[in-house]
Amino acid sequence: MSTAAAPAAAADSPWLNAQRQFDNAAEILNLSSGLRAVLREVRRELVVRFPVKLDNGGLRVYEGYRVQHNVTRGPAKGGLRYHPDTNLDEVKALAMWMTWKCALANLPFGGAKGGVAVDPATLSHRELERLTRRFASEISVLIGPDSDIPAPDVNTTGEIMAWIMDTISMEAGYSIPAVVTGKPLDIGGSEGRPSATGRGVTIVALEACRREGMDPAATTVAVQGFGNVGSVTAALMQEAGFKICAVSDVFGGIYSPDGIDVEELFEYRARTGAIAGFANTQPVSNTDLLELHVDILVPAALENQITARNAGRIKAKMIVEGANGPTTPDADTILEKRGIIVVPDILANAGGVTVSYFEWVQDLQSFFWEEGEINRRLERIMQKAFTQMCEQAEAHRVSLRLGAYLVAVKRVADATAVRGIYP
Ligand code: NAD
Repeated sequence: MSTAAAPAAAADSPWLNAQRQFDNAAEILNLSSGLRAVLREVRRELVVRFPVKLDNGGLRVYEGYRVQHNVTRGPAKGGLRYHPDTNLDEVKALAMWMTWKCALANLPFGGAKGGVAVDPATLSHRELERLTRRFASEISVLIGPDSDIPAPDVNTTGEIMAWIMDTISMEAGYSIPAVVTGKPLDIGGSEGRPSATGRGVTIVALEACRREGMDPAATTVAVQGFGNVGSVTAALMQEAGFKICAVSDVFGGIYSPDGIDVEELFEYRARTGAIAGFANTQPVSNTDLLELHVDILVPAALENQITARNAGRIKAKMIVEGANGPTTPDADTILEKRGIIVVPDILANAGGVTVSYFEWVQDLQSFFWEEGEINRRLERIMQKAFTQMCEQAEAHRVSLRLGAYLVAVKRVADATAVRGIYP
């Protein structure tokens, strides 16, 4: 049986950290104790254990999760992660962060997340499909276009979303494209969705540079993680004029003070299957990458990369959080004292869920938009959320993270108050 990793120690527990971030905002907003009690817990959590037939005829049982943190402002929305270390503690945190992210972007969604404790690299393509279809069936009691809409996250893809859409549609007897987002275009996916998260990271990095008087052409960047978020961010930031000096994946990173040509790196990776060994670069570990002499650091892999242990050694002037939860609250305190700006995850990576919202709307209307329209609408939403975050941060003389939380938590709290408590 595949089992989830044990919950992290308190300072590294994503869930306790998410609750700490919420508490900081609740305090400033002076929320009532009753409302705090509602918002600092998840609404629903589903744990499923299910068998998958292996190609060798054997059976293996996997553990999966779907958690809805809050659905006050609309259906729950959030990705599905396939990772051996995924566990309930992590999924609860990711679900809560989705609630605030959707509220900050003012999308009519609540927050959810899910995942399976599995290393997909250990499965064949057929096994991955069987695991996905069975997991989709197991969580079908929660998901649906009006209730809870999954999307891709770490190690999940458009193809996996297509299998989920097909499974839910087969069980219903008719096609339900709006049950997931991040689907291929052929079955109701949206133009611009695969690049949306990286595009959003780039939009807010440009806004943050403008605010700080930093010229992109004179600004160096290191990106940790070269998956959906990290690779698109590196490519689009390069296109916007930034110099990308380091990137990494799970196996380690590459560094060049003169800059890395990201387009050439894509070709190299397609040819060799790796980023290591790319011409005119030197190897750098994932730990050392975080401490490089660059102006902007973009963590775009997993949680808990910048902690109290290494925050004192970060040299970047600015951190733009492509990943969810890469910086712990203890690290935030150290970075703030050192004057390092953190553009928080709930804003920086909100481009993905924003275009997922566009995809869901297009599916419900069966009417599809062009990519230019998608990107323009995305930019407007990201810039507006950026401005609202900065206004709150300045008004209360707090960090950008707290500014973003003040906007988001207030929206959810106000919606709760207006709806009232049932019955
Ligand atoms: P992905 O699976 O496409 O890519 C993950 C990347 O991180 C890969 O390059 C992998 O090799 C690398 N990686 C894994 N473990 C690592 C480690 N320990 N150190 C360094 N690199 C490591 O996943 P993704 O969709 O790009 O997601 C990355 C982060 O962005 C996650 O925190 C995810 O929750 C967040 N996010 C994703 C989306 C989206 O639309 N996909 C949207 C918002 C936020």
